[in-house]
Amino acid sequence: MKKRILAMIIAICFIFSACQQQKNTIQDMAQIQMFAMDTFIDLKAAGENGQQALLKAEKEINHLEQLFSTTLEKSEIYAINQNAGIAPITVTEDTFYLIQKAKQYYEFTDGAFDITIAPVVKAWGFTEEQKRVPSEQEIQQKLELVNQNKLHIDAENNTVFLEKQNMAIDLGGIAKGYASDKVNEILKQEGITSAVISLGGNVSVIGKKEDGSKWKVAIQDPLNEQGFAGVLEVEDTCVITSGVYQRFFEQYGKRYHHIIDTKTGKPAETGLLSVTIVCKNGTMADMLSTSIMVAGLEKGSELWKKSQDFGVIFITEEKEIYITEDISDLFTLDEDTAYKVSVIKK
Ligand code: ADP
Ligand code: MG
Repeated sequence: MKKRILAMIIAICFIFSACQQQKNTIQDMAQIQMFAMDTFIDLKAAGENGQQALLKAEKEINHLEQLFSTTLEKSEIYAINQNAGIAPITVTEDTFYLIQKAKQYYEFTDGAFDITIAPVVKAWGFTEEQKRVPSEQEIQQKLELVNQNKLHIDAENNTVFLEKQNMAIDLGGIAKGYASDKVNEILKQEGITSAVISLGGNVSVIGKKEDGSKWKVAIQDPLNEQGFAGVLEVEDTCVITSGVYQRFFEQYGKRYHHIIDTKTGKPAETGLLSVTIVCKNGTMADMLSTSIMVAGLEKGSELWKKSQDFGVIFITEEKEIYITEDISDLFTLDEDTAYKVSVIKK
């Protein structure tokens, strides 16, 4: 177990340094690095109060992990899942809020985002020690447990109830985005006006760099572990990426990643290698990066067209980059890549 955690830390540090690296010269910023929520986390804040603010942020992240983990036996999600088909569980505000949001997002994405996907994610071993390819029959059995209508929430009593035994929920596609929103809130309360935080593939920036220029967030090239597809220059927003290269395993030469198509119960195969969302709301961005990987380029573009709140970068297997017009000016393609860039208009 220890070996596995160490290997994971090394792997994730490597992925982190290769992918969402900030190409910024950062001097005199307070910094905390930690491992939580199954990912490497890097927090940096400028200003006199930086260190104190980051310590509070670190505490909050650890607290949220204790609430949302699917595997920690004391977590609220664990309690909800253990009590599936038995009894409603009273949860704290954070947990209730996020599950309520997840239900709204299910509607918004037409079912692409579904936290009741947990039994399927588990069958593939993504929340277990050992990843594996489940049989077709097992996938079908688990899919029968995926049912948003049987996830009941009661706002008056702050309770959550899964109607059927063996149902389960998994906030893995949204929790890190929510954590980044909470961290931003804390940092702002502490008077921080310049900060950058990264939770694995989830980057969030406050204000601009201390020298007044925008933050540069590199977007990983999904076809080259060491390289970047390009750079986004941003301020006061979140840049959140989901991709086929983030968490996966290989069997008989085929690659299986961790973003599950709610219709098939298998890793989404929409021709997309990664989806990056630029959005002020980190929870929304995290949810969208996961669900647009499932929805694909066409439906993802439609989601963008019906909302004014976020920008998208799609990277496809065909070596194309599609970028929505609202953020196209912020993006610079890396000269060393062979991607063809197209702009999506409203
Ligand atoms: P990461 O957590 O690596 O940053 P994502 O944000 O894309 O990646 O979230 C992927 C996680 O979301 C999976 O590990 C699983 O826990 C969960 N998940 C997978 N498929 C779905 C889906 N269709 N809807 C909601 N959550 C999902
Ligand atoms: Mg996500």
